[in-house]
Amino acid sequence: MQISNAIIVGAGIAGLSMAKALEKLDIEVLLLEKTQRFKSIGGGITLYPHGAKAIDCLGLLDQARSISHELVNYNLFSDNKLLLKDNLLQFKYQTGFSLFSFSRDQLVELFANSLKRDSVRLGVEVLEVGNEESRAWVRTSKNELLKADIVILADGINSKFFSDIVLNKVSAKKYCGYSFWGGFLTGADCIPVSDKSTMVTLGKDKLSFILTLPNKKQWWYLIAKISEESWIGADKIKLAKEVFSNWCKNTKHILSMTEDAFAFGLPCFQNKFVNKWHQGRVVGIGDSVHGMGPVAGQGANTAMLDALVLAKSLVSESNFSSALNKFSEARNDIISQLYIMEEKSAASKMHSDDDFVRERNQKLGSSKIINLLEPVMPVITAHKDVFDFFYEL
Ligand SMILES: Cc1cc2nc3c(=O)[nH]c(=O)nc-3n(C[C@H](O)[C@H](O)[C@H](O)COP(=O)(O)OP(=O)(O)OC[C@H]3O[C@@H](n4cnc5c(N)ncnc54)[C@H](O)[C@@H]3O)c2cc1C
Repeated sequence: MQISNAIIVGAGIAGLSMAKALEKLDIEVLLLEKTQRFKSIGGGITLYPHGAKAIDCLGLLDQARSISHELVNYNLFSDNKLLLKDNLLQFKYQTGFSLFSFSRDQLVELFANSLKRDSVRLGVEVLEVGNEESRAWVRTSKNELLKADIVILADGINSKFFSDIVLNKVSAKKYCGYSFWGGFLTGADCIPVSDKSTMVTLGKDKLSFILTLPNKKQWWYLIAKISEESWIGADKIKLAKEVFSNWCKNTKHILSMTEDAFAFGLPCFQNKFVNKWHQGRVVGIGDSVHGMGPVAGQGANTAMLDALVLAKSLVSESNFSSALNKFSEARNDIISQLYIMEEKSAASKMHSDDDFVRERNQKLGSSKIINLLEPVMPVITAHKDVFDFFYEL
């Protein structure tokens, strides 16, 4: 199919990777971002082998390696007790790619710097989106009406356009039932771990992640089941201190840090799973369609895969309708599996029932990381045709 140009709304990881994938196919891109600079909510991000492979397909893996930390050891604790210690490089042996830990800002910057200069406009908010006979259009805060062969919504979990246009004014957003805090530790403030491990700690209704970044830096997340109302008027650090007081030693360490160590504290939202991804020539990708909770750490990986699959469909199919149908069909099954995985992962990691926790810990204690992550393997190994297509370009 002949496609000459695309407008992308939103320059998060979904929009940036979409722009890069289309540029690789010589399609003219206009990426519109409402903020004045590239920004990304959250401190760190983990990419799984499929995310790393997507970056490789986009020609950015070597640069990505230089700003990330390859995750080698995985340590799982229950409170202060070590349940499981294993080696994550097994994934590399099985899939060819490791897991990597990034600072979000650097990952976003990597994508942004790789795009053609005139592909991106910052400080331009899209105010309206629509379809016409054989084009789609956007109206911007600069009072322009811009048209293209396709408009791709990558405007995140609060996407108004996805609800209005694709879902016919139905909002699919809901509170996950838990909230999270995150930030960075640097230099001597880092938690002393000799082997630069990933540390996941499970507790009653709460959990924490600590991961290493290059240059003596670590990023952390604390996640806890609390009500959405707890946030009303709350001071994020005070709330963290209340929720995580007297917990494991790593958390005590984080809570003892200055305010600078806390990048954010937020209630956590997800979108209900929908299998409709487009209307006419307006299509959603990333969190705008399938914002999911952060516990299984799949949103950014998924957004990049959306971008590759959509880009390939757009040039391989004979018309827009079949390209967009093909795209959503290809992604629906994987995304529905991810929703189930995310919910199971959050439910089992944050539990309040003592018997459940005892049994879970016993099982975890006799497991291997490769078995625990078995449910994610179909997601990691899907879309071989798409990866092959990009490698052959
Ligand atoms: C705490 C936390 C931890 C996470 N950890 C992981 C992890 O380890 N691994 C992982 O894979 N995923 C993780 N995720 C998920 C991941 O961050 C997202 O799924 C991913 O970044 C995709 O985001 P996006 O680009 O779709 O949306 P966003 O990042 O929200 O980007 C949307 C962009 O659109 C812009 N925009 C919105 N409206 C308009 C408009 N009208 N006009 C112009 N621009 C507009 C916004 O300003 C924004 O820049 C985590 C998420 C959170 C919150």
